[in-house]
Amino acid sequence: MATKFELSELIRTGHFIDGQWVASANGKRFDVTNPATGEVIATIADGGEADARAATDAAARAFPAWRDALPKERAAVLHRWHALMLENADALGHLISLEQGKPFAEGRGEVLYGASYVAWFADEATRIYGDLIPQQQRGKRMSAVKEPIGIVAAITPWNFPLAMIARKIAPALAAGCTVVGKPAEDTPLTALALVMLAHEAGVPPGVLNLIAASRESAVPAVAAWLHDSRVRKITFTGSTPVGKYLARESADTLKKLSLELGGNAPFIVFDDADLEAAVSGLLVSKFRNGGQTCVCPNRVYVQSSVYERFGDMLARRVAALKVAPATDPDAQIGPMINARAVEKIARHVDDAVSKGARVLAGGKRLTALGPNYYAPTVLADATGAMQLSCEETFGPVVPLFRFDDETQAIQAANDTPFGLAAYFYSQNVRRIDRVARQLEAGIVGINEGALASEAAPFGGVKESGYGREGSKYGLDDYLSIKYLCQGGLE
Ligand code: NAD
Repeated sequence: MATKFELSELIRTGHFIDGQWVASANGKRFDVTNPATGEVIATIADGGEADARAATDAAARAFPAWRDALPKERAAVLHRWHALMLENADALGHLISLEQGKPFAEGRGEVLYGASYVAWFADEATRIYGDLIPQQQRGKRMSAVKEPIGIVAAITPWNFPLAMIARKIAPALAAGCTVVGKPAEDTPLTALALVMLAHEAGVPPGVLNLIAASRESAVPAVAAWLHDSRVRKITFTGSTPVGKYLARESADTLKKLSLELGGNAPFIVFDDADLEAAVSGLLVSKFRNGGQTCVCPNRVYVQSSVYERFGDMLARRVAALKVAPATDPDAQIGPMINARAVEKIARHVDDAVSKGARVLAGGKRLTALGPNYYAPTVLADATGAMQLSCEETFGPVVPLFRFDDETQAIQAANDTPFGLAAYFYSQNVRRIDRVARQLEAGIVGINEGALASEAAPFGGVKESGYGREGSKYGLDDYLSIKYLCQGGLE
């Protein structure tokens, strides 16, 4: 049996329900397009309420056997899935580039990153321990055991079409849960391909079900899960308004929620920083995926005495970044995901410039390349009055804010409802300790721009959500604790 697939074999056009590829119950379909060219890559099933319910029915039927499988049996399936992801990393990387637009090297990198969570949780599956509680009364034995929570609904965004869904499915399956999922409408093909590989790896029918849906159909499809008491958990990565909607709508059935939501990450450069390292760290964290990353620095605060020098150093490096379609092997930044995304970036830059920002690099669309390209941009003299100070730009724009002292920098960094990632550069050990403790964020980069790892807990505070993905804590969100009290043992 072939385990290495051609790109064309990985493109699936149906929903995957109960181990079968099926059309939508209402026959609807929608187009998935290449953001670099606008061309249609595939026309695929557009799932609605009936498909979502069929997926839940399958997940409910499959749950008892999957829950009762030995942890090492579940681990073996996940390890096979991991191996298939690695074997097909090139084709999956191309598929990510095709539907999402990121350069191939980044697409392939995302496959390895997503796969690392699958391997991690395969191992974690075999380490789900409970407690034997020290005896409190004679004749009684008290213990706590961890059980899979039940059916999990996973809803994911377009910016990491493979990694975001892999790091939800892997812990859910490791814990013994069954899954119904819906990827983003812009990038469903990678998720469908991933599910195909999971099936090849031996995930039993009904354990993992995925429906694709257009933006309009997503609402009734997901509502079917929100209002179904058999679905015990929602795990969501996406924007804060949609996360709040899911929390409200699932309140009636009191589901457990994990919400990985929007960010507005600050990046602080103190005057005692290694400026070369800070520029490099900023480039890595800001321009990954063209700035369309939830942990991307959105506001860069630079201390006054190094402000102009840092701006010049950064602008030189940013102006040299190569913007091109993912098919260009030298591409460092691809197209933005769609026209709406470019509109928002242009609106933020125009608003900033109209309020006094200076363009040090970029500052314009790159229409010669296609409709969805925007030049990597550095803006000096940014202020709190500009839209980009309080809204996630989600594009390749670095606004530079000026500050005079540490207190002012921390106050400005925390002055947001969000709290996902924060970064700072300093070589003063006392300052490092003080600032790290005071930043209101779930993830803090200290003299480092690349933070992601399957071994680390990823998640936010405040309106960036709750729950953690990856690390030894990542399984907790998919487990519930049962207390057993056995009497009559005298
Ligand atoms: P989005 O919230 O618009 O969409 C996310 C998912 O929710 C998609 O699958 C979409 O179809 C679905 N959805 C949207 N409205 C819905 C509704 N009313 N009912 C049911 N489903 C609905 O977000 P996006 O634009 O795809 O992604 C970008 C956002 O995701 C950014 O805010 C970014 O910061 C955030 N994000 C967060 C993390 C994290 O780990 N915290 C990671 C990646 C992206």
